[in-house]
Amino acid sequence: MNDKPNEIMNIQGRNMKGKINVLDRSLEELKTDLVSLGEKQYRAEQVFQWLYKGVSSFSEMTNLSKALIQKLQNHFSIGLLAQQQRLVSSDKHTIKYLYLLSDNNIIECVVMKYLHGNTICLSTQVGCAMGCSFCASATGGLVRQLTAGEMMGQVLTVNQDIEEMGWQPVHGVVLMGSGEPLDNYANTMKFLHQIHHPKGYNMGWRNITLSTCGLVPKMRLLADEGLSINLAVSLHAPNDRIRQSIMRIAHAYSIQEVVEASKYYFEKTGRRVTFEYALIHHVNDMPEHAAELADLLKGFPCHVNLIPLNENKHSSQKRSHDESIKLFASILKSAGINTTRRREMGLDIQGACGQLKTAYLKQV
Ligand code: SAH
Repeated sequence: MNDKPNEIMNIQGRNMKGKINVLDRSLEELKTDLVSLGEKQYRAEQVFQWLYKGVSSFSEMTNLSKALIQKLQNHFSIGLLAQQQRLVSSDKHTIKYLYLLSDNNIIECVVMKYLHGNTICLSTQVGCAMGCSFCASATGGLVRQLTAGEMMGQVLTVNQDIEEMGWQPVHGVVLMGSGEPLDNYANTMKFLHQIHHPKGYNMGWRNITLSTCGLVPKMRLLADEGLSINLAVSLHAPNDRIRQSIMRIAHAYSIQEVVEASKYYFEKTGRRVTFEYALIHHVNDMPEHAAELADLLKGFPCHVNLIPLNENKHSSQKRSHDESIKLFASILKSAGINTTRRREMGLDIQGACGQLKTAYLKQV
């Protein structure tokens, strides 16, 4: 007996009414679907184009016959997400959303307004199995994988909202919300191909950044895919000892292996890797840690992004003092390492990953 019908149905890409989320379908799959419904293949391209223009219903697909629209309505749903909460930062440049999935799980995503285009930070899993000590998404572990259509649903639902605010549609994606994208490899790949598809959303590879805590074999697999997306690697430490004290994954792969896999990614794609480094007071933020990090990355054309820790209730760790951050950055820079400090957007709306959702779930 299946005691969790909604969850299981969702994993198969069907909602509670047994319909398939059309956003889970690649163009090729949609062609097969439409042929099996007695339609011509080219109709799939029309449907696909409409979807990524951001329609909410099949009846808006005005170049399709009524009969086809009816068939589509019978078999598919368009997996836009139900908004549970929406918070706008005081500078009005960041909006954070909580969305309810069809099985009642909740995910969060953030959209940031930049001069070069609006960027969405989206979730790839409900929860996360990686267990980093400072990260709110780790609380409660992994609940389930998100499908490609649920990732796309975040983009298209956010687009509808920001359009009303007069913003341009999402121009870039960072896979830095809840979850570890490389721990949901197949669905993440499907999503990437779907959002890049020239007949669909047509987003350039270079507008996409995937962030990983360092699943070494999957990083190599991604390099071999030959997509020129940007790779961000959450390093957060200059050596194995410190990394293991804050990141569970560091027990599986050494920091050297993570750096080697990052070099492989650069060789294969020509894309410069970014190392993310959350500065935690007295844990990884001392001058000797900066020197050790500079040594580790010496000669590798990469980028280090320093992130002052976003403190949260699940951990007693504190953010570094401003002077430590400046000193840390200056040591890296004088060693010739390209270093920036992440602009902290949306702090007042719990911008860091997993934080809004955890706060929300506590209230209800
Ligand atoms: N699982 C992926 C992507 C999700 S997290 C990864 O680990 O890279 C996106 C980034 O936010 C990661 O660099 C993560 O380590 C960082 N992060 C998580 N919690 C944070 C916090 N409290 N303060 C600062 N950065 C945090």
